[in-house]
Amino acid sequence: MTATLDDTRLSKNHRLVYDIVQEQGVGRHLPMSDLYELARTRRPGIGFTTVYRALTRLRDLGMVSEITLPGADSAFYEAAGPAHAHFRCIQCGNVSNVRFALPPDVVTVVASELGAQVSDSVVSLLGRCHTCTTSTTVAS
Ligand SMILES: [Zn+2]
Ligand SMILES: [Zn+2]
Repeated sequence: MTATLDDTRLSKNHRLVYDIVQEQGVGRHLPMSDLYELARTRRPGIGFTTVYRALTRLRDLGMVSEITLPGADSAFYEAAGPAHAHFRCIQCGNVSNVRFALPPDVVTVVASELGAQVSDSVVSLLGRCHTCTTSTTVAS
């Protein structure tokens, strides 16, 4: 079960960060630096560490998804939603949602082969996005 605001007591700052991520919606992937800027416009003086701690806690509560992608400098944060994969453009860095998740039975088989408990799976695709592949700009 995903925690909800009703059964989780969040501090004001955590609530603010949660609201900001929630307002972006599923499909928007913001690095912490962007979330920090948004938080500062709402609450000038809020600390970087405070936003970081809020994101860590919200992630641990399953209320916010933390996405780390190969080649990306930093993690992205997204409103918690249905499991999906991500495509990252290696040229412009744009991140898009991909409607794909490992089928549960595949995870079950892999887990039993490993004799392990699988708690999470991450599927990432890399390449060049439509805009970059159709761009006529010649890199110099
Ligand atoms: Zn691109
Ligand atoms: Zn996503």
